[in-house]
Amino acid sequence: MRSPQRRELGGLPDRVQIYEVGPRDGLQNESQVVEVEAKAEFIRRLAEAGLGCIELTSLVPAKWVPQLADAEDLLAMVGDLPGRHPVLVPNERGLDRALACGVGEIAVFASATESFARRNLNRTLEESLEMFRPVVTRAVDAGLAVRGYISMCFGDPWEGEVAEAQVARVAVSLAEMGCGELSLGDTIGVATPGQVVGLLAELGRHGLGPDRLAVHFHDTYGQALANTLAALQHGVTTVDSSAGGLGGCPYAGSATGNLATEDLVWQLHGLGIQTGVNLEALCRTSLWMARLLGRPSPSRTLTALAPTLE
Ligand code: MG
Repeated sequence: MRSPQRRELGGLPDRVQIYEVGPRDGLQNESQVVEVEAKAEFIRRLAEAGLGCIELTSLVPAKWVPQLADAEDLLAMVGDLPGRHPVLVPNERGLDRALACGVGEIAVFASATESFARRNLNRTLEESLEMFRPVVTRAVDAGLAVRGYISMCFGDPWEGEVAEAQVARVAVSLAEMGCGELSLGDTIGVATPGQVVGLLAELGRHGLGPDRLAVHFHDTYGQALANTLAALQHGVTTVDSSAGGLGGCPYAGSATGNLATEDLVWQLHGLGIQTGVNLEALCRTSLWMARLLGRPSPSRTLTALAPTLE
């Protein structure tokens, strides 16, 4: 299998932690429901491919997200894997379930905008943050790490532009509650690199440096890797991506959603940045999942490499 020619660029981190979202964000947004045994196999194979941080599932009510109704069964099947394995938790009931499962890290999913808070959480932005407060506090008290997602950081389908100060307000609020890592989501994939650097600088002025931040880009407009590079140049070392580019984006009305992990790994390894990932094992895993779903992966790297892997 071909691999990227290595040429360092300077001013970049030596190592990046890839935060793999395929099993949760990816499969949640696929129309097809994947059997729990196949999900467990997917996670095991991703871990074997060297992904040390995999978000496993979401403890939402089954009626909200039927694709993830098997969360408890899945967690029992996956068991103890080395590394970080967060689970998304929407509310206190979800936290109770996470604690009962012995989860070591949770993630909460907040919005940067009023419109998305109302559409996705059926609450005002302020009410949604107040809903998360006891979840985060109790989780931290129980010794869990908490990641705070902030969606619509760079654009909102109903509001259009999103002010940097608005994102900072939500970010500071989540950090004060106890979220250790904040993931900045470009949920509709509209951001360009200047916006990324602008927001990172704004957050820095509020005491939130790149060590506290992760980036979550969508490739809807083909900007995900350019935005990633801008974030790396600004000191960010945690990048969210989805194996095979799983998960379209329901809010962008597009088949292209999450940045594909294969595309990210190609760039990082080309830059001489360590990820711990075996690209060939990852590609074989994503090809297997694409066959299971019955549709080709949107990942450019996977598409280019697939013929040499058959
Ligand atoms: Mg996503």
